[in-house]
Amino acid sequence: MGPIPGSGLAKGLAVTLRTMTRKSVTARYPDAQPELPPRTRGVIGLFEENCTVCMLCARECPDWCIYIDSHKETVPPAAPGGRERSRNVLDRFAIDFALCMYCGICIEVCPFDALFWSPEFEYAETDIRDLTHERDTLREWMWTVPAPPPLDPAAEEPKEVAAARKAAQKAVAAPPPAESPPAEPPAPPDPPAAPPSGPAEEGPR
Ligand code: SF4
Ligand code: SF4
Repeated sequence: MGPIPGSGLAKGLAVTLRTMTRKSVTARYPDAQPELPPRTRGVIGLFEENCTVCMLCARECPDWCIYIDSHKETVPPAAPGGRERSRNVLDRFAIDFALCMYCGICIEVCPFDALFWSPEFEYAETDIRDLTHERDTLREWMWTVPAPPPLDPAAEEPKEVAAARKAAQKAVAAPPPAESPPAEPPAPPDPPAAPPSGPAEEGPR
C-alpha cells in the first residue's frame, strides 16, 4: 500500500512547527556580535616590550610566515669601568595571515611571553597581499587579548608565588637586628694652655 496522499506535507509542517518553538542557534551577525570562548584563535597579538628578537618563533613557524628584522645597538656600561653591551632592537615584526595555519606553535615557543591569541576575527581583506599585518596592527590586537582565567582553586601554587610567599614569611619570622650600644659621649676638649709665667719681656729701649 502506498503512502497516504498529503502525509509528506503533514510531516514537513510538523518539523516546521517543532523548530519554530526552539531557541535559534544562529546570530544576526554583524548586528549581534558572537559570544566567543575565551581561548578562541582569532589573530596573534604582539607585546613588543617582551620581545627580545630571539627569532625562535620565526624559526619554529612551519609556514615561515613570520617576518622579523632587527639591528644591534650598543648599550653603555651599567657602572663606570664596566663593559659595553649590545642588544637587539626590533625593526619589523609581521605575520602573513594568508599563510598562517593557526597552529599556535609561535605562541607556545616564545620564551618571553610576547605573543598571545586574540579572539579578533574581523580582519578580512579584499587583496590577499593585505593579509600580511605589521607590528602596529599586531600591537593593537594585543589589547583585545582576554585576561587569563583564574587558577583552579585545587591547582598547585605557581613557583614564583610560592617563592615570594616563603621569602615574605621568612622576613616576618626573622628576629629584628640587635640594637647597637649607644655611642660613648665625645671626650671634653683640652683646657686652654696656661699663659706663660714670669715677667714680660722688655722691648728694645
Ligand atoms: S600560528 Fe603557526 S603558522 Fe601561524 S604564525 Fe604561528 S607558528 Fe606560524
Ligand atoms: S620568540 Fe618571542 S621573543 Fe623571540 S622573536 Fe619571537 S616574539 Fe620575540
